[in-house]
Amino acid sequence: MQKKLRVGWFSFSCSEDSTIVFVEMMNEHYLEWKRLLDFRHARILKSKNLMEEMDVAFIEGAIATEKDAADLRKIRSLCKRLVAVGSCAVDGMPSAQRNDFSEEKKACIKMLVDRFRLAEKVLSVKDVVKVDDFVPGCPMSEPKFMEVLKKYLTEFGVC
Ligand code: SF4
Repeated sequence: MQKKLRVGWFSFSCSEDSTIVFVEMMNEHYLEWKRLLDFRHARILKSKNLMEEMDVAFIEGAIATEKDAADLRKIRSLCKRLVAVGSCAVDGMPSAQRNDFSEEKKACIKMLVDRFRLAEKVLSVKDVVKVDDFVPGCPMSEPKFMEVLKKYLTEFGVC
């Protein structure tokens, strides 16, 4: 029986454009990925998702709340490798723009920060957990994503 790479795809604070790129890539790769990947958690693809052990977790978006940071730590505890996907996950920007707001601008958005229980600072993924690989780009670079995916398909003995 064909071994599959157990993957999860998670989005935090962002525009989710890397998720759209990922789905668009399925126009070319769907049949291959269906054979090689076991999507344990991917809300863009399935309504029933498992928060269980997985080989690779792909993380999109920046971390803007304490709850998101706790969820990310949980994902880290369940995966063997974790990949930050897209600029917001890799270095926080552009989702982290409010970190650099003037005191005046920060005062203007305080009501929203309080209302949505946002953290004082928006963090990149590596600010919260250990990251094994980075796929930069806004949205993510498709060639780099394929390079990282191939690396883990080989590492985990899938192909
Ligand atoms: S990196 Fe760019 S494309 Fe991706 S979520 Fe952030 S703003 Fe959107």
